Amino acid sequence: MSASPAKNIDTAEIVGHFINNVDVADDNRPQPICNPATGKVTRHVAMASKATVENAIAAAQAAFPAWRNTPPAKRARIMFRFKQLLEEHADEIAAAITNEHGKVFDDAMGEFGRGVEVVDYACGIPELLKGEYSKNVGPGIDSWSDFQPLGVVAGITPFNFPAMVPMWMYPMAIACGNTFVLKPSEKDPTAPMLAARLLREAGLPAGVFNLVNGDKEAVDTLLNDSRVQAISFVGSTPIAEYIYTTGTKNGKRVQALGGAKNHAVVMPDADIDNAVNALIGAAYGSCGERCMAISVAVCVGDEVADSIVSKLKAEIAGLKVGTGTDTSNHMGPLITKAHYDKVRGYVDLGIEEGADLVADGRGLVVDGHEDGFFIGPCLFDRVTSDMRIYNEEIFGPVLCVVRAESEEQAMQLINDHEYGNGTCIFTRDGEAARYFADNIQVGMVGINVPLPVPVSYHSFGGWKRSLFGDLFAYGPDSVRFYTRRKTITQRWPSGGVREKAQFSFPGRQ
Ligand code: NAD
Repeated sequence: MSASPAKNIDTAEIVGHFINNVDVADDNRPQPICNPATGKVTRHVAMASKATVENAIAAAQAAFPAWRNTPPAKRARIMFRFKQLLEEHADEIAAAITNEHGKVFDDAMGEFGRGVEVVDYACGIPELLKGEYSKNVGPGIDSWSDFQPLGVVAGITPFNFPAMVPMWMYPMAIACGNTFVLKPSEKDPTAPMLAARLLREAGLPAGVFNLVNGDKEAVDTLLNDSRVQAISFVGSTPIAEYIYTTGTKNGKRVQALGGAKNHAVVMPDADIDNAVNALIGAAYGSCGERCMAISVAVCVGDEVADSIVSKLKAEIAGLKVGTGTDTSNHMGPLITKAHYDKVRGYVDLGIEEGADLVADGRGLVVDGHEDGFFIGPCLFDRVTSDMRIYNEEIFGPVLCVVRAESEEQAMQLINDHEYGNGTCIFTRDGEAARYFADNIQVGMVGINVPLPVPVSYHSFGGWKRSLFGDLFAYGPDSVRFYTRRKTITQRWPSGGVREKAQFSFPGRQ
């Protein structure tokens, strides 16, 4: 029995959990899931109790000894089958993303593809875990480093990439020999649940991957349970900081990726038309609900700013906003009514703060979808660094243009900002680009590339308050994050030679 069971809700319509390779029904504190394009509740999702999360942790703990000893090549074969199954079910998973997140179907397929890329990388795990070996570090002595799995690890993920961000975590964690408990976003839980069932179909043993839906109660259980060795988190900065401080205080390894305010610098020598096209896609794609979205364009010189603003305004007039199921649309709705109100509130605030609203998407109504959470693209010019619309993450289709006098001044703005996730520069000048890449205080940098999201065999992460912890997500850093180094030194005395006791510290050989 759950503590607070569903009232007047068909329990078959409540998304439960996935523990020990079994779908677990639950009607505890069900929360509504909305289709953001219609504003209608489509299903509900259960909020796992502490006891349910503890069951998932226990399942993962029980599965760990056998999984840790499963040869990496065998783990890789399961990843190959998983990848194949994901590709066969791509349409179904992308449709679930569109229905619950709202993003346009092609964009959902794009996110899904970037997640599958990490599974590709995980398929190479035997190579990635080969370790380091040195022969004859001393007379007859060999030494090597082994990378051993940690045990039970957990992932907590945001709403904006319901398939991809969980896949930044669990394929590599599992391939490294850990067992996993995922707590995805309660706003769009279907895509990760579909992937969980495919892991089972791929042959993953029971308990190696578990999924609990829930909220703070589930997260706090993961943070406070001593069986959980490490936590990967992606979400907003205040929660990332909370996860990092609580998790590390409890002795866990934690990587917590947070929010962003990504600046694009447009230099006077840039190819302006290309820069405008890049900015339009990077600012308004996925309705601005991307941690790598460009939300600030810093134009160097008034001439560049005037040209960029007038061209952006013209492009914005041609953007189509509507349901994600109509792939001719460029942008879908925002995730929830509460988020819609927040984004709209920021546009009101920008006007109060004295910025110049050049394009106003607030009045947008999509025919037949009047209750959907739609807002059109918004563009502010003459934004300054003291404004809240400049300093705070809006996470919507709102692009702020800031005018700077030089590359140095543009870079100073970026370096002074609390976030340091992504940035880019548009220029034809190699020296300016090289200087920018070398000195900017940001984790991911694009040169004429607006969304410099690293491919799966590099690693993803920000600097400053965009990442708490030392290691980035996926790529080579994920092998380090999900394993613990052990260094072994061995000698087999030969010919029955008796060793003498040595009282001095082993000296240099
Ligand atoms: P969020 O921080 O509200 O939620 C993220 C996760 O934390 C969810 O699973 C949620 O259930 C859980 N959570 C929420 N409140 C909690 C609390 N008080 N205690 C414990 N757990 C809690 O983020 P969101 O709104 O789902 O996602 C948007 C945010 O994620 C944006 O700030 C965006 O920049 C960020 N994001 C960052 C990256 C990155 O790589 N840096 C990637 C994607 C999204």
